[in-house]
Amino acid sequence: MAWFKKASAFLCTEIQLILSQPDLRARFINKTLEDSKNVILYERTVKDLRELIESLVDEYSNDLGVSINRIFFRRMKTKWASCSPKRNLTINTLMRYLPDDLIRYIVFHEMVHLIERRHNERFWGLISKKFERYEKMEERLFTYWFLIHKSLEYRV
Ligand SMILES: [Zn+2]
Repeated sequence: MAWFKKASAFLCTEIQLILSQPDLRARFINKTLEDSKNVILYERTVKDLRELIESLVDEYSNDLGVSINRIFFRRMKTKWASCSPKRNLTINTLMRYLPDDLIRYIVFHEMVHLIERRHNERFWGLISKKFERYEKMEERLFTYWFLIHKSLEYRV
């Protein structure tokens, strides 16, 4: 999907960028509405999320031969997660609504950034060794992003 490729890797970029482009925005909203019919939000506590993330960081540290300094958990407005040059991983606590496979993907994605900062060919090459269908996962992350924010709006 060309429009998606153009806007890909929003994990590390501002989601507002997509929303500020009218053509991308319209296509995106239509697609999200369509996709969200088959999507359910997962329920796990922040504690459960924390345990899952910690075990994934251990697993991928071995796989990739990299190490994470510290893991922070907080509510982020524009990203699922980020990884700083100081090797600190920050996790958006909203990830607790995601299915396991997408959580795995986000953690792996962020840790690959310790090897390659940019979203270039080398980066996607490393990603695809573990997540062959990463484009589909990025798409699903878009859907979840909006679904979660929409459902939180109605939860008083
Ligand atoms: Zn990234």
